[in-house]
Amino acid sequence: GVPRVVIVGRPNVGKSSLLNWLAGLRIAIVEDQPGVTRDRVDYLMEYEGRFFELVDTGGIGIEDVDRLTQHIEDQIQLAIDSASVILLVVDAREGLVPLDEEVGRRLRNLDVPVLCVANKADDPKFDQQASEFYRLGRGNFVPVSSKQNRNRSVLLNSILERL
Ligand code: GDP
Ligand code: MG
Repeated sequence: GVPRVVIVGRPNVGKSSLLNWLAGLRIAIVEDQPGVTRDRVDYLMEYEGRFFELVDTGGIGIEDVDRLTQHIEDQIQLAIDSASVILLVVDAREGLVPLDEEVGRRLRNLDVPVLCVANKADDPKFDQQASEFYRLGRGNFVPVSSKQNRNRSVLLNSILERL
């Protein structure tokens, strides 16, 4: 089948924004229930003639604080089960927080390549503060901004290299 690129990371780092940006989508998917909108959780990408499925694990389950630990566990399990490449998304402006490190630790022993994506690097000045992310991704690190459209092709090429 088509290789799966699975997006993991704690809530609010911009996983859904990243998927929509890479996919070129702007509109959230509207669910059956009136008044409820929900982000798209997967999208079949074509880039440079190659195909992969982008999967936003944050769209699965409820992202409330009480369920956070279980939620992260579910994300990681899905990534382990199905990913060809894992995108570990962090927030370039907030820097590394303990939950990012925890997710990183859990992914460290997998055979699947992990690419650390520091989203919200709206300005190049955030790229300079990246040494901690560099460590988290063990050298596999890309600063991007889904809002400012920074480094989209750099990220997509980094994904293709690892498929
Ligand atoms: P998720 O919980 O990881 O799926 O995060 P969302 O995609 O819902 O984004 C969380 C918040 O971060 C939203 O308010 C977004 O508008 C904001 N956000 C996402 N990407 C960027 C970015 O590149 N730059 C900035 N400044 N904000 C962003
Ligand atoms: Mg989301």
